[in-house]
Amino acid sequence: MKALIVIDFTNDFVDGSLPVGDAAVQIEPVISKLTETYAERGEFVVMAVDLHEPGDPYHPETKLFPPHNLRGSDGRALYGALEQVYEKHKDSIYWMDKTRYSAFCGTDLELKLRERGITEVHLIGVCTDICVLHTAVDAYNKGFDITVYEDAVASFNPAGHEWALGHFTGSLGAKVVKSS
Ligand code: ZN
Repeated sequence: MKALIVIDFTNDFVDGSLPVGDAAVQIEPVISKLTETYAERGEFVVMAVDLHEPGDPYHPETKLFPPHNLRGSDGRALYGALEQVYEKHKDSIYWMDKTRYSAFCGTDLELKLRERGITEVHLIGVCTDICVLHTAVDAYNKGFDITVYEDAVASFNPAGHEWALGHFTGSLGAKVVKSS
């Protein structure tokens, strides 16, 4: 059993306050298509979405990054056609707020996967070398098999993107594949 985890593909991370930019805009069709395909096949799809409170003095990212994915903001809405795919499959896609880079940190993701007998996680979204990476590291430590779609991940940092793809295969034993 496998799950698709769609990481942080929101307006703020694509072309908003903390943008990946063109590299993220370009993967939008693939992200939307994969999400649709997995949802239609009845696979478990998780929309893992960063959540911040304005000016949170206790959050470590407040010192590191400009405000992003604030609760209730348009920046936190899903980007492009992914929003329509989500609306269409809302009943079956699991929307999951997260507050740290890893989708496993402080969430019930592991419980949701284990109760469904899921042993394999497929990762797409942004950024390859931050939230996708940290999610992959946690998945590895928890014993999940990992697949990353290289044409459905992106970063504002091309060198970080390339390094992370190598780390997925070389150190986490992940499969790095193309969607088509
Ligand atoms: Zn954040």
